[in-house]
Amino acid sequence: MLEGFGLTARKSSYRSLASLQRDLARCRACVEAGYPLESLPVRAPGARQRAYLFGQAPGVVEGEERLPWRGRAGRTLRRWLEVEEDEFYAAFYCASVTRCYPGGAPTGRGDRTPTPREQELCSFWREWELELLRPRLIVTVGGLALRRLLGLPSLTPCVGERFELQGTPVVPLPHPSGASGWLNDPANRKRLEAAAVLVREELSGVYPQKQ
Ligand code: SF4
Repeated sequence: MLEGFGLTARKSSYRSLASLQRDLARCRACVEAGYPLESLPVRAPGARQRAYLFGQAPGVVEGEERLPWRGRAGRTLRRWLEVEEDEFYAAFYCASVTRCYPGGAPTGRGDRTPTPREQELCSFWREWELELLRPRLIVTVGGLALRRLLGLPSLTPCVGERFELQGTPVVPLPHPSGASGWLNDPANRKRLEAAAVLVREELSGVYPQKQ
């Protein structure tokens, strides 16, 4: 657990992503509330992206590097979307339900799911990011991110569909973590293909000059 990194600072209002990111980078709200986090916050590089990628929580590799989607799940995600690493980070502002590595699950399989209180504490950053970034596309990754953002309880029927959040298109993806057996079902693989097409279509509208 990382402690003693200074007091968490949260302004009542932010006027720039740079200022938000400075405070996010040293947030310890969950540690101060007694939760056993195993990294400092993982931040999105850059602030000029027009698409917002919203996952569950960083993994151990991301926690060490303090950069999102650096490990195997990130490589799988980029393969699904058919984008190279540079293109991926230039297109997506990467965020997640919680921003610090939560540690391994007590079962020993996969990572610990952040508690509802941790999710709530971290939603502060998401709300300000969406306010400041005003993305033209949101892609959720995994069931928790979808539930948290849109309140939709079940991931499977949503993959391959397009939703909206206050006028912004939202496309859900499953989680690319190796811990999920979701893709063992051929029907789910078809859902994923449809969802990846939707993301690419939306991206071509968001970044027309890159097509
Ligand atoms: S998970 Fe979010 S709210 Fe909790 S300490 Fe990390 S950045 Fe702060």
